[in-house]
Amino acid sequence: MAAAMGAVRVLCGAEKERVVGTHKAPGACPRCGSAVVAVDVESERRILGLPLCLKSKRKYSCTRCFRRLVTLYS
Ligand SMILES: [Zn+2]
Repeated sequence: MAAAMGAVRVLCGAEKERVVGTHKAPGACPRCGSAVVAVDVESERRILGLPLCLKSKRKYSCTRCFRRLVTLYS
């Protein structure tokens, strides 16, 4: 059952994300004032089991309330 669902996802070109690393980011969370952390994520799109493209992006989030701060920093 789970294997069949995985096969469907591969056919549709599922995106797999992997965290490459985290760093301390400058600035503070606008909501609680805590430190902001930058997370580098590598996402891989595969179609029929073949890697199609590899993208890396950086996400920012608050270390205390885990609020996503993408709009502020990107
Ligand atoms: Zn916060």
